[in-house]
Amino acid sequence: MRRIPNTQYISKITGEPTGVWCVQLTVNEVMKMSIEELYGMAMGPRTEEFESTKSKKAYRHFVEYMCDSLEIKHTVSLSIQHLLDKINNKSSPIKQSSIKNDYIMPPRKCIIELIEHNIERGHSSHEENKIIGMELINAGYSNRDIHFIFESIYNEPGGDWGWYTDHPDKAGHIIDNMKEKALNRYSKDKLIQMNICRDNCPC
Ligand SMILES: [Zn+2]
Repeated sequence: MRRIPNTQYISKITGEPTGVWCVQLTVNEVMKMSIEELYGMAMGPRTEEFESTKSKKAYRHFVEYMCDSLEIKHTVSLSIQHLLDKINNKSSPIKQSSIKNDYIMPPRKCIIELIEHNIERGHSSHEENKIIGMELINAGYSNRDIHFIFESIYNEPGGDWGWYTDHPDKAGHIIDNMKEKALNRYSKDKLIQMNICRDNCPC
C-alpha cells in the first residue's frame, strides 16, 4: 500500500494523514533537488505519471527459488514462463499427498500466483501480505524464506513495516505475531470473496 503513487502517508501514531504524499520522482530530480525541494514536491499528488522499472531480476530470483524448493531443475536459458508451468504442475499434486500429520500445507496455486504477481508489480497490500504470511507460515516456511519472499516483492530494506527486517534470518514482527498465535491460513471461501482465488482454481 505504501508504494501506490499519489496517496497520502498515514501517521502510524495518530492514524491520520501527515500531509506528505507519496509521489513519483525521477532519478534526475532526486539528484538535482534539495531535500526541501523534494518535500515541496510531496505536499500534494502529482499529475504526471512515470513508468517505473520493475525488478525483473527479483522476479527471476523468486521463480528460481520456487524451483529449488520444488526440486525443479533450472538453468538461465529456460524462460520464466517455462519454469512457471513446471512450478504450477508440480505444486498442485503436492496437496494430494497426505502430510496432514505434520500440519504442513504447501502454498496453494492461487497464493503462489499472488506472490509472483506482487513481485512483478513491486508492491503488495497489507491484506495481501497477511494472506501471504499466513500461507507461508502454514506451509512451514522458515523466517529466512519468508524474509526472502517479502524482500523479493519490495526490493528494499524491510524497515519497521513488520513483514521482514534488515536481518536475512528474521521475519518482521507481524509475522512473529502470526506464528505465536498459530493462526490458520485463509479459507478458500475467503480467498474467493477477496478475488484472489477463483472457483476453477485447483486449490
Ligand atoms: Zn485457489
